[in-house]
Order: sequence, then C-alpha cells, then structure tokens
Amino acid sequence: MEKINIFWFRRDLRLEDNIALYHCSESDTPFLPVFIFDKNILKKLKNINDPRVQFIHNTVSTLKEKLQAKGSDLRVYYDTPRDAWEKIVSEFNVQNVYLNEDYEPGSIKRDASIEKDLRNKKINLKQYKDQCIFVKNDVLKKDGKPYTVFTPYKNRWLATLQPQDIASVKIKRLDQSTLKLKSQEMISIEDLGFQITQVQNSVKSIRKKIINEYKEKRDYPGLDATSRLGLHLRFGTVSIRKCVQIAYHSDEQTWLSELIWREFFMQILYHFPHVASGPFKEKYEKIEWRNNRREFKNWCEGKTGYPLVDAGMRELNETGFMHNRVRMVCASFLIKHLLIDWRWGEEYFAEKLLDFELSANNGNWQWVAGTGCDAAPYFRIFNPETQFKKFDAKQIYVKKWVPEFGTDKYPDPIVDHKEAYNRALLTYKLALS
Ligand code: FAD
Repeated sequence: MEKINIFWFRRDLRLEDNIALYHCSESDTPFLPVFIFDKNILKKLKNINDPRVQFIHNTVSTLKEKLQAKGSDLRVYYDTPRDAWEKIVSEFNVQNVYLNEDYEPGSIKRDASIEKDLRNKKINLKQYKDQCIFVKNDVLKKDGKPYTVFTPYKNRWLATLQPQDIASVKIKRLDQSTLKLKSQEMISIEDLGFQITQVQNSVKSIRKKIINEYKEKRDYPGLDATSRLGLHLRFGTVSIRKCVQIAYHSDEQTWLSELIWREFFMQILYHFPHVASGPFKEKYEKIEWRNNRREFKNWCEGKTGYPLVDAGMRELNETGFMHNRVRMVCASFLIKHLLIDWRWGEEYFAEKLLDFELSANNGNWQWVAGTGCDAAPYFRIFNPETQFKKFDAKQIYVKKWVPEFGTDKYPDPIVDHKEAYNRALLTYKLALS
C-alpha cells in the first residue's frame, strides 16, 4: 500500500497560513486531510440547534469542496478520536500525522493518548504551534515561573515578539501534495444528531476601521465597534498571525492588548489547570453562595428588571454573542447582586457563546468574581444602572433587545441594588476573613 501522511484538522479550519498544513504539504509524501466530529464532545451538547456545530459543519463542508476541486478529498469521521484513528490506520499506510497543538487540559490528554497509540504502530505525530503567538513556556518571568499578572505579562510578550513570530506561511504545494482520491459525500448535520440552524454574525473579515477606532468605541454595545472575530479565532477560520500583524501595525494598540489577554488566559489555563473547576485563589472557595434557582432562571432569561443585564442575556440567547462590556455587567450581577456561584454563569455562557473558549471564559468569569489571578478586587461591584446610563445613554442597545423596557410589561428589579451591594460585601468579607 502507498505510504501517506495525514493532516488532522481540528481548531485550525483553514487552508491559508496554517503552520502544520504548510509543513505537511512540503513533504514529498502525499497526504490525506482528515476531520473528526468528536462524539465525546458532541454528545455533551444539550441543544440540537447548536450554531457552533452548524458553523463547524459549514466550514468543514467548504474545506472538503475546496480539496475535492484539487482532485483530493477531506475524509470526515464521526466517532471518538481513538476509534476514528483506528479506522484511519487500518485503511491507509500512514507514516506521519501532522497537526497543530491544542492546549486545553482535555485536549492535551486526548492527544497524548492518540500519540501513544500511533507510536505503537510506528507512526510519528508531528505537532506545531498555530493557534497563538506565544503559549506554554514562551513567555515566562525571570525566575522561570509563569506570569499571573497581565501587565508585566503583556510587556514581556511585546518584548519577546520578533517579526518571524507573526510571519504568515504560504502554502504553495497543496495541489501536488494532497493524495488523489475518489471523493466521499459529506456527513449531514442530522447524522451528527443536530438540526440545520442559522449562524449569526459569522463574517470573518478583519475590519481595519474597527481596530483603529477600537479604543474610543469598544465600550458602547449599541455600536458595531468590536471585531466579532472571537468565533473565528476559536475555530481557526482566521489566522492569529494575520490579526496580530494588522494589530501591531495599526495606529492604536488597544486591540492588540485584547489579543494578548487571549494568550494570557491560555497560558494561565495551561500552567494552572485547576482553574477549570475551581478558583485560582483557593481561599475564595469559602464564599457562601445563595444559589437561588428562580433568580438564576430570571438571569438566564433576561428578566431581572435591570435593563442592561436583560438586554445582554437576550442578545446572548438569540444570537450566541454578547458585547464585552455587557458580559462584565451580566457576570457581575449574577455573582455579586444575586450571589450565585460564578461557575453556574460560566457554564451557561459556555453553552451559549459562539466564541466560547474555555481559557477566556473561565479567566473572565474569575476576573469578575475576584477569584482569579489579576482579578478585579472583590469590592468592585458594577452598578448596572450606572453602566446603562454611561454606555447606552441613548438606549439603542436596550431598546433593541428589550422592546418592552419603559412599559408596564417590564418587570421590577428582582433585587434592590443597595441592599444587594451590601450583602455581597458582607458575604465576601466573611469568607475571606
Ligand atoms: P474584540 O473585542 O474585537 O477582541 C478581539 C479578540 O480578542 C476577541 O475575539 C478575543 O479572541 C480576544 N479577547 C478580547 N477580549 C478578551 C478578554 N477579556 N479575554 C480573552 N480574550 C479576549 N472571549 C472569548 O473569546 N471566549 C469566551 O468564552 C469569553 N467569555 C467571556 C466571559 C465573560 C464573563 C467576559 C466578561 C468576557 C468573555 N470573553 C470571552 C472576552 C470578550 O468578551 C470577548 O472575547 C469579546 O467580547 C468577543 O468579541 P469580539 O470578537 O468582537 O472581540
């Protein structure tokens, strides 16, 4: 049987500027691209209309068509990764497997077990860095320990950056190097156990005007003033190197800082994987949450009587997106005003956000809760009314998502701000004393 290499697409769903794909295509051995719809992940999703599955399905279908146009194919599996690999290696004479690294605790474990299985069959796994500029031990303090505070991390990140770190790779040999194969039909979304659904706001251009005006406009949820690239960075449909090149050379560097926040939280999760299930700072485990289920439901449904919170939650429920300022206000309200465990909110966001990323979601929830590294101090409690007046003065955002606001149909606040504020301070003080 002809010897081949395999390229395994994961969260790098593009044919351009893809590091492992570049190396794979430079080899003289022909390669077969594969994608696995992971049963372990899909079976945990509760919503059969999950737009993220649809987004991946759309993207994989397009990749498949592009590869078929080159006389090759993208083999798509619906299985657990280990079972899929068993099938692949029994069908083909595989020499090397190329992939881009993944840094979440679960993915590291999965890849280690696949690597072991492949090694037993004398197949090499070749891993590359693609989804970020710096990760793992690329940016460490002078004492060799990871940073836990953002500003010094950012300064070191910037000082470490060299032009080659953000240079794009040009994949020239895709046509010659892909294995020529008879094409197979794409698996349908129904076969994966999901239904056809719409994916909103999935345009993937990097809009320079937004980046240049980002500092001035990013806090106003009524404006279209943030990049909306979160989803694409999550699934690798845009290249982070391309984003950083543009950010670095723009007049204004605030957007670049956001991309560095992304990598800051990635390295936190990598070095301190315990954050995935509990507070970064252990003493915060003692907070006595009220965890009132009815209030949690009000929050989820956007019926708290606080307009900015309600607008944010409804935007999230309807579109899978929520503006960053409003994410902070909604998270703070749940944790501080309602005294509901931040992990409940984290889980709800994880289920709904199109751009859900474990490291960023967890890092930001812990930041708001005050339990994380470099977090907001616990006594910083967002006033949802003041935030509304300041960042949505013309009520553009609130009126869009809460049309009954200002009428008798709009509910009264479920908690009084002042009382909730004092209760939160007392609860945190008691836990930390
Ligand atoms: P822009 O504002 O244009 O920023 C560009 C990119 O930088 C983002 O797409 C994202 O990749 C990164 N970024 C920006 N802000 C942050 C940040 N604070 N932390 C880490 N990365 C950042 N971001 C996610 O990508 N996934 C999440 O699951 C997520 N959950 C969040 C939960 C809470 C409670 C909060 C307060 C924030 C969360 N964020 C998350 C961060 C931020 O809100 C989103 O990245 C941003 O709103 C996405 O919009 P955008 O794509 O227009 O980003």
